[in-house]
Amino acid sequence: MEKILNYINGAFVEPTAGKFFDNIEPAKGEVYSQIPNSQAEDVEKAVNAAKEAFPIWSTMSNEERGDWMMKVANGIKARMGEFVAAESRDNGKPVKLAEHVDIPRAVSNFKFFATGIQHFASESHNMVGVGVNYTLRKPLGVVGCISPWNLPLYLFTWKIAPALAAGNCVVAKPSEVTPYTAYLLCKVMDEVGFPKGVLNIVHGYGQYAGDAIVRHKDTKAISFTGGTATGKAIASIAAPMFKKLSLELGGKNPNIIFNDCDFDEMLKTTIRSSFANQGQICLCGSRIFVQKGIYEKFKTAFVEKIKKTKVSNPEDPKAQLGAVVSEPHMEKVLSYIDLAKEEGGTVLAGGHRVELDAPYDKGFYIAPTIIEGLEYTCRTNQEEIFGPVVTITPFEDEEEVLKMANSTEYGLSATLWTSDLKRAHRMADQIDAGIVWINAWLVRDLRTPFGGVKSSGVGREGGWEALKFFTEPKNVFVKS
Ligand code: NAD
Repeated sequence: MEKILNYINGAFVEPTAGKFFDNIEPAKGEVYSQIPNSQAEDVEKAVNAAKEAFPIWSTMSNEERGDWMMKVANGIKARMGEFVAAESRDNGKPVKLAEHVDIPRAVSNFKFFATGIQHFASESHNMVGVGVNYTLRKPLGVVGCISPWNLPLYLFTWKIAPALAAGNCVVAKPSEVTPYTAYLLCKVMDEVGFPKGVLNIVHGYGQYAGDAIVRHKDTKAISFTGGTATGKAIASIAAPMFKKLSLELGGKNPNIIFNDCDFDEMLKTTIRSSFANQGQICLCGSRIFVQKGIYEKFKTAFVEKIKKTKVSNPEDPKAQLGAVVSEPHMEKVLSYIDLAKEEGGTVLAGGHRVELDAPYDKGFYIAPTIIEGLEYTCRTNQEEIFGPVVTITPFEDEEEVLKMANSTEYGLSATLWTSDLKRAHRMADQIDAGIVWINAWLVRDLRTPFGGVKSSGVGREGGWEALKFFTEPKNVFVKS
């Protein structure tokens, strides 16, 4: 069986202790490769390699660093089919989703920051008759990047690319649930002859390999995307060490639909914002609030469409939903459906596991699920489920829906559907979220700040925000 390997100092290596664990294909529920169970000693080697590479990488011109990164972008593109198949196999997502979203976006992440760094500039502040301040922006050194399983290569490269562009050397860990495309990325690095030690990838469990990256005295910053509880644990270790921290955490996003929306456009997009990637996107709108005037019309149309949605194996070109990422995750999502029923909810669509024919009969499939009749304060409506489950709730007016929308501990994104421009601005201003879409969902411009408020995180990724995070400002004053 294939063994995934760590990539340290430009070489593919087994973990020092020689231990591996199983990588399971969610579409079939079968083991298909082995993942290194790396420990602190492997992270130590990776950090040492990164430290050694730092003087050369950090003093290279921006243009030269950008050229290296473009080679990686083109290398991923050249192996597009292989990356797409691997992402789908590792995660359970439909092939067509990996083909249209995940892998093209990983290519864009490298291109975006390879070119962005050419335009990144720092400030100067003139004091007339006194002197001038100029601010240098220096790379931090060795930084740690830790990412989740839902958009594996997409989110992994969203961190690595700005870190590298800014001149840092990186020790990175992909999710142990979906490590394969990070391994393929190492093959591309190797092929293009990327300077050794600049990017080191260590595979393994969060509590061992991830924890060792966070605790290492020489990782100067941690960029983390994952669950809120993990973010809290990481912050408790890294904050007293005065590390820079970027935390992109969980969400429970509201999708707010007013009577005056463009109904057809809203319905089409709401199907995607509810169930794309099996509902496993941190930006999915899992709490749908619908104004009373169109509640029944929306409910009928939404339920009818979702009942016809095709859940199938990821290779089926007609699959609208594939498998959820793992058996424990499937059990967690199903347990939330049980909880919703206990809390008084009515399941209008889905609500159960889907069993496909062999060879997919052991796969982890869940029917897209719509639940109504729940209080906005109940656990189902307050806790992150992160699967193909949404609730629908009627509301009277702006005041009521704002109270419901802002009632959770989270604040990542929100979607609003209305043709009243003034209302759209008013609501966008008052919603607790780092990202608001009006009459749209998941339209991304990589220059914009990306991140959440409250328990959805600290800091912003994207554009200059990311390049600022991965650099340290140093102000210099010169007397005139
Ligand atoms: P997770 O927190 O379980 O794991 C994320 C990563 O952290 C993995 O690589 C894991 O191995 C590692 N990790 C776990 N424990 C660790 C520890 N103690 N120290 C260091 N690293 C550790 O999250 P997940 O289940 O992989 O992903 C799902 C979560 O990610 C959801 O909550 C989702 O909302 C969130 N998410 C957020 C965003 C965002 O941009 N805000 C994007 C995608 C996913």
